Amino acid sequence: MMRFDIITIFPNVLRPYFKEGVISRAQKRKLIRIEIHNLRDWTNDRRKTVDDKPYGGGLGMVLMVEPILKAVSDAKKKCRLSGSRRKRKVILLSAKGKKFDQKMAGRLSKFGQLIVISGRYEGIDERVAKYVADEEVSIGDYILTGGEAPAMVIVDAVCRLVPGVIKKDSLKDESFSRDGYLEYPHYTRPEKIVIKRKTRRVPPVLLSGNHKEVENWRKKHSGKRAGARRS
Ligand code: SAM
Repeated sequence: MMRFDIITIFPNVLRPYFKEGVISRAQKRKLIRIEIHNLRDWTNDRRKTVDDKPYGGGLGMVLMVEPILKAVSDAKKKCRLSGSRRKRKVILLSAKGKKFDQKMAGRLSKFGQLIVISGRYEGIDERVAKYVADEEVSIGDYILTGGEAPAMVIVDAVCRLVPGVIKKDSLKDESFSRDGYLEYPHYTRPEKIVIKRKTRRVPPVLLSGNHKEVENWRKKHSGKRAGARRS
């Protein structure tokens, strides 16, 4: 069992996502466990303050280190690591971090516990990156309003690679399953359809029933950038 702990000030953004489909079934089958924590639960004041003005001045508010530190140590205490999954990793979501990809998803899927800290506002007290988190991770070179969408992306991609969540055979020939590989195109019924006044057909080889030829066609048509327009 692999455990995920996500720390956020907007837990309700995340909860519905993990209640559907493959990830929901994996939780029911106890292959993974996903806990979503409200950072405000680790505050002491009546207003449940998690942010403050930046030292040195400037625009925007900064998430404070103290509630994050407490939330992370609590999440660690709640997960007893055992068996082949004896290691945990604390990830800070940050646009400045290392770029997330399928290789990193594979590496992270081996841990016993992944604690994911989702930021908001102008940023997070740097002492979180320096002394609380093990790694800063970005999902791409753009700025989002918060770390909730990146948390969904990372936890989703990592979950799929936990043994048993998806059949091994289905993972084998997926895009990015090996360096530079992009999967072949898929077709299903109907055999022909009119799109923009032209009849568009399924490539005949896929209807031939000849497994060898289908395999060759798929090999030939893999490795192209997905979404690229074909002439
Ligand atoms: N001022 C920050 C900067 O220039 O890098 C951006 C802060 S952003 C508005 C608020 C939070 O959203 C960040 O602390 C981070 O947790 C999350 N975030 C935004 N873009 C992200 C990305 N591309 N990857 C991962 N997390 C991101």
